[in-house]
Amino acid sequence: MLEPTFRKPVWAVLLGVMCAAAQPARPPAPAPTHFDILRGAYGPYRANNDLLFYHLDVRVDPEKKFIGGRNTIRFKMLKDDTRIQLDLHEALKVDKILLGETPLHYERDSGAVFVDFPETLRAGRVYTIDFYYSGNPVEAGRFGGITFRKDSSGHPWINTACEGIGASVWWPNKDQWRDEVENMQISVSIPNGLVDVSNGKFVGTTDLGDGYTRWDWRVHYPINNYDVSLNIGNYQHFADRLGNLPLDFYALPEDLDKAKKQFVQAKGMLEAFQHYFGEYPFQKDGYKLIEAPYAGMEHQSAVTYGNHFADGYLERDWTGVGISPRFDFIIIHESAHEWFGNSITAADMSDMWIHEAWATYLECLYVEYMWGREDGLKYTNGYKSKVRNALPIIAPRGVNREPPQDMYFKGALFLNTLRSVVDDDRRWWALLHGYYQHFKYRNIMTEDVVEYFNRKTGMNLTPVFDQYLRHTALPTLELTFDDAKRTVSYRWKADEPAFAMPVRVGRKDHWQIIRPTTAWQTMETPVPKDQFDVATDLYYVNVSKPDLRAGRP
Ligand SMILES: [Zn+2]
Repeated sequence: MLEPTFRKPVWAVLLGVMCAAAQPARPPAPAPTHFDILRGAYGPYRANNDLLFYHLDVRVDPEKKFIGGRNTIRFKMLKDDTRIQLDLHEALKVDKILLGETPLHYERDSGAVFVDFPETLRAGRVYTIDFYYSGNPVEAGRFGGITFRKDSSGHPWINTACEGIGASVWWPNKDQWRDEVENMQISVSIPNGLVDVSNGKFVGTTDLGDGYTRWDWRVHYPINNYDVSLNIGNYQHFADRLGNLPLDFYALPEDLDKAKKQFVQAKGMLEAFQHYFGEYPFQKDGYKLIEAPYAGMEHQSAVTYGNHFADGYLERDWTGVGISPRFDFIIIHESAHEWFGNSITAADMSDMWIHEAWATYLECLYVEYMWGREDGLKYTNGYKSKVRNALPIIAPRGVNREPPQDMYFKGALFLNTLRSVVDDDRRWWALLHGYYQHFKYRNIMTEDVVEYFNRKTGMNLTPVFDQYLRHTALPTLELTFDDAKRTVSYRWKADEPAFAMPVRVGRKDHWQIIRPTTAWQTMETPVPKDQFDVATDLYYVNVSKPDLRAGRP
């Protein structure tokens, strides 16, 4: 997901979001709290087990804004132990936790629930527990976590979006990013006449005979907790197909006609991303687009949508260069996360650029696929106006810290730079396809990405990745000219001492590739200082041309 930060503060007020552009310099980040460490660290009672399966089976009472039920959790122990860590928001009550018929003791500590077993659980064995809970969930986090609203005709409209705050804001689970279940069942019981849309393939409905109907969904793939979703409302359904892939769309009655027009874009999006990366990752679950009361979220195989059924982002030109108004930002960006975020997932929130830089870069690839290379580049470079360079893109690990928004915009500009470093589009497309195919359905960290690109290119790109992801400053290409000798000296000014990156310089119509390092090199050039350009649309770098005496020792 992306939190919009338009330059005009009126939007920030309207949307109730923070406007990064209007903020003064950031104060130092606060030290992680006890809660952040419990939530963010992959502690010993998480690391001792491996999730296999959830069956989340809940009943939702719209009038009482109440949720209750059970999560059946199956896991394999990785070492002998008597305790595991799960998570549930403090506002919700633990009713009981059972191993078979045996009630288990547990201890709550802020958002964590430590579950104790009467006998040692053995490494290699599989166990199943039933975690019963209930209560009135609080609305919390950027998107509300779970919200109980009414649509314009007075029908209940209940949705979840809990990235950041965490899925345990509305259901009990092992609330972290590293470990995912291999598959999942979701059962949601709601008053008759309403519809629930969750993740995965629709299985069917069962009339429970008490005024409620249960909606059953089956997720056939690994799924990260924050992607698990329910959407309850007076939804109208329409369907389509792209080859074998079922496409299912859900909108409120008053928006149905608009949705039928706008959601057509899903097909072109799927074609573009399948072209670059291969088959849609969740074929058995299908692709769904569901109207929601917030801008949008990448819920796996059940993308939620609230972009006003209009092109651009909340009816604005998102990168400000006239290209964003050609397509629906939310359909393209949130669906890109099916490949990057849902299929490939970061193992710690610190490395969330693995979701967001890539999803943002996929917008750029979508533009290139639809309208060509030149427009793709223009759209990409439009993002420069949003970059702050105030904090590194990779946040501290293990402390539940979300990285800054540069992970989107600077991240995408960095990937565009990497393409220019590879400097061979056929090779670049093969690298992208190979990267996705290699890591699909896995939870990875930046080191895995870097290792892959180093191995496949045969280059040492580690200092390049590190400069863009682990430092705040852009690399600066320093150029000093000696007009008498007709030479230019050049070097990179960067935090990484081993930073070395080829770059195109000289005249726009015949660029010359030079290979600067952090040490000065000199070459002859017929191009005078004032006409000597750097291809900054292809490489996201700063350029400085200090005077000979000032710039060079
Ligand atoms: Zn996103």
